Amino acid sequence: MSGRSKHFRIGNEQIDLGETKEIKLLVAKNYDYSNAYMPVKVIRGMKDGPRLFVCAALHGDEVNGVEIIKRLLKNKRVKKLSGTLIVVPIVNVFGFNSMNRYLPDRRDLNRCFPGSKNGSLTARLAYLFYKEILSNSTHGIDLHTGSRHRTNLPQIRACLKDQRTNHLAHQFGVPVILDADLIEGSLRKVAYKKKIPMIVFEGGESLRYDEITIRSGLSGILSVMQSLGMIGEEAKKSKFIKSIVANRSYWERAPHSGILILKKKLGSVVNPNEILGIISDPLGNDNIEVRAKEKGVIIGHTQLPLVNKGDALFHVATFDTTKSVYKVIENFDDKFDYEER
Ligand SMILES: [Zn+2]
Repeated sequence: MSGRSKHFRIGNEQIDLGETKEIKLLVAKNYDYSNAYMPVKVIRGMKDGPRLFVCAALHGDEVNGVEIIKRLLKNKRVKKLSGTLIVVPIVNVFGFNSMNRYLPDRRDLNRCFPGSKNGSLTARLAYLFYKEILSNSTHGIDLHTGSRHRTNLPQIRACLKDQRTNHLAHQFGVPVILDADLIEGSLRKVAYKKKIPMIVFEGGESLRYDEITIRSGLSGILSVMQSLGMIGEEAKKSKFIKSIVANRSYWERAPHSGILILKKKLGSVVNPNEILGIISDPLGNDNIEVRAKEKGVIIGHTQLPLVNKGDALFHVATFDTTKSVYKVIENFDDKFDYEER
């Protein structure tokens, strides 16, 4: 694996042991001929070791990860690093600047990997990331949020049948790990094919900063880095969140169009037939209950009170037993709700 070699290059830059470099990878020209860059920062410790990439805003409007990376770079433990940290706070620079999930050609970057040198704009951007970042890494963490008007409980999505990915997922310390299928064209799928363990962190909502998501994302990355031997232990040990693995999840959809009031929040454990929300008309008549099909924990929900019949309202992860879920969620709330910044 290239992780052990002495010479390390990204773009036209060589980064030697003990060096930190900020690199602007040219993606394309904008309409006005100005340059669109993917910003990258590489920190190489004095000792070689794992090469971990942490990236955000692959979907351009999913901004929580940008703040997570900013705080990661400021963290004292990262100053004494073994191995290499490669951060890419904005992968989809076009989407970021237009507050949009997609690129101007309306493609989803996370369905276009590994991309191609001569393809569409999105394919070219995918290829640049694939060649310069993924191929130069031994491990990866990709930071996401819920899509527009949806919010997610901080969670990890990973392919757990790969032992090393499984390890990273459990080290992150969020309440729920979804053992998620590998979707064709996703960054996770190409990482899996290249045998690079990679996890996706999901939390919060697009175009919003969510403090609990930001704190738990930062804490998770540091915990993964510690488990890889890249940083030392934290000075004041905090409670570790033992995750629960969900093999399956389902969406509870609107049984009727109307105006929705949520009756459950993220992290709520629900039983079959329990009321999740109520839809009514503007005068409060004709109340229609939205009920849970199966037991599980709410890992995502809509933020919009206006719903059409068939809209996805609640994302529920299911478990063999919900017994320990209560405790895990309680520990998580304690750790990130009341901890000082
Ligand atoms: Zn996303």
